[in-house]
Amino acid sequence: MKIKILSLFLIISLSTLLFYKYMLMSKDNDIQNLAKKTLESMSIANSAILDTYKIVAQKDFNNLMKNEKALFILKKFKYADKEQKAILRGKLYRLLYKEYEQMKKLNVRQFHFHTHDGRSLLRFHLPYKSGDSLMELRTSIRVANTEFKTMVGFEGGRIYPGYRYVFPIIYKNEHLGSVEFSVSFAALEKKLKNILPFHAYELILEKAVSYDKVFKKHREFFMPSGLSKNYYIENAAISKVTQKVKDDTFVKKLTSLTRQSDDFSEKLNKKESFAVPIIDGNSGYVVTFLALKDIDKKNAGYVVSFGKLQDILEVEERYDNFIVIGFLTAIVFFILITVIITQIQKIKEDSLKLQKFIDIQNSIVILTDGKEFKFANKKFFDFFGCKNLEDFTSEYSCICNKFLKQSGFFSLADVKESEKGWIDSMLNLSGRKRIVSMLDNISIPHAFTVSINSYDKKNYVINFSDISDTMSEKLQLQKQVVRDQLTKAYNRVYFAKTIDRLIELNSQENKKTGIIFFDIDHFKDVNDTYGHQVGDDVLKSIVEIVRSHIRSSDKLIRWGGEEFIIVVPANSIEEVYKEAEHLRLSIQQNKFGEVKTLTCSFGISLYIDGDINESVKKADEKLYEAKESGR
Ligand code: GH3
Ligand code: MG
Ligand code: MG
Repeated sequence: MKIKILSLFLIISLSTLLFYKYMLMSKDNDIQNLAKKTLESMSIANSAILDTYKIVAQKDFNNLMKNEKALFILKKFKYADKEQKAILRGKLYRLLYKEYEQMKKLNVRQFHFHTHDGRSLLRFHLPYKSGDSLMELRTSIRVANTEFKTMVGFEGGRIYPGYRYVFPIIYKNEHLGSVEFSVSFAALEKKLKNILPFHAYELILEKAVSYDKVFKKHREFFMPSGLSKNYYIENAAISKVTQKVKDDTFVKKLTSLTRQSDDFSEKLNKKESFAVPIIDGNSGYVVTFLALKDIDKKNAGYVVSFGKLQDILEVEERYDNFIVIGFLTAIVFFILITVIITQIQKIKEDSLKLQKFIDIQNSIVILTDGKEFKFANKKFFDFFGCKNLEDFTSEYSCICNKFLKQSGFFSLADVKESEKGWIDSMLNLSGRKRIVSMLDNISIPHAFTVSINSYDKKNYVINFSDISDTMSEKLQLQKQVVRDQLTKAYNRVYFAKTIDRLIELNSQENKKTGIIFFDIDHFKDVNDTYGHQVGDDVLKSIVEIVRSHIRSSDKLIRWGGEEFIIVVPANSIEEVYKEAEHLRLSIQQNKFGEVKTLTCSFGISLYIDGDINESVKKADEKLYEAKESGR
């Protein structure tokens, strides 16, 4: 039972562990999905905002293309010498300065003209810095001035990185250069905050598109980000956004929690968008990293958002509840099954005890409704020589079929028509008369008193106590059926009835069955000499002698006239021989009154399988041989 409970415990523990693992996995999955959804929203908002700025830039460009004065200056600039160029640059600045101020209100940071050969013509955000070639450094400017395509996208620069909108300027079929409107991250951040009111946004940039790209003296515009040393942010000293984010304790906290997350740097190195869900105490957070590609489709960095995401906590709580319920269910289940196992075990033990109690009873005990058997004790099976109830019921449907019809004993013939059955009939008898006779497994009749007790509404416990000893006289009559009248040895009827059973009993003891056949020598002479009566006495004496020398398991049968056989359990023919020899000597040494001495001739055989009658015949043949060779 302990093993059963232990294995149950192991099975339940294992399944609980699997359930727990599965729950943790699902929880993680659900939380990751929530974070991913936030990231998706971020990506959609980001593209929507940049598209809006594209429209703004396009409008500004359209206005410029209607400004004949500006276009005239640009045309002159293309062919001007250095001195004239400085004057024209000043003219252009003064002409468009107010418009730049307007643009700044709409978050355009850079308004920048480039020459037809890709040099800086005029930076409105830094008017004294010009003439530097941007062909190599800025893809957008190169493509706009060589392929005359409008270029849109994020790009680093010699001063600031930004979301660029670069338009080629073609005036009266002449390429005059290009113009760029560029939006700062601050502008994007402001709009993002309107759409997705996350706590904070930050732009982290690859060193190559920020620190490494700007004019050396502008490197101070950048500083390493808190999230990773490989990524730079705009210097807090010059960028309001950065300054705000840098001093924010919430961002500081999330930055450190993000850096602690297991695979953060790995994900960062993949340069694809990802989100980090965070649970800290009673709060849920998410930090999203939206991958930023530059105009060359190269990785430029990430737009990072920091925010609370209380839904994560709800998912966490939901799963924690599942897990607790799961654990409790497992415990209850375990206790329940343990109780059931223990109870079943107890019932089993009790019934075993009861079975044992009933089995050690000296009487036959059965439980029956009068027709069907429900239960029988060991004594029952021993008595009838059957292994189990099926064995018995295959031959007899009711124990009442075993009752011998005999005067003084109850049998089925005594059941009256008015009575329901044999039990009913017996109950109508006085206790003294409830006596039956039945043959045991070797056809010996026994007498029983029967007591009947109600067990439940349908069934009775019926007790058969063996009273054969006190009934011996009455039984005597029946015994005579299987015994020889003169010598009281068993007769051939007995042999026929019981030989199969005897063989079976022997084999249960792992023994074979030996046959000893013997015949009195010259018995005719005894009769002839001393008379028939003396002959009879001799027969009786011989049976007495043999009986006193054989074991209870040996069965002496008068086969006919002065011939006998003994059925004996034996391991080998030698054993049978020894026993026969012993008997032979015992008879030979006996004094038979006036007849004095007698001899018998013996023949033996050992039955192993097949027909027992063949073994009897064999022993008979051997006996004949003995007679032939001098008795
Ligand atoms: P053998 O040594 O060859 O066996 O000689 P035997 O004389 O013993 O054999 P036989 O078969 O010639 O004679 C058997 C005799 O046994 C014949 C019969 O009268 C006698 N007999 C058989 N049954 C009884 C009996 O119940 N009582 C008496 N008194 N004699 C019997
Ligand atoms: Mg004889
Ligand atoms: Mg004979």
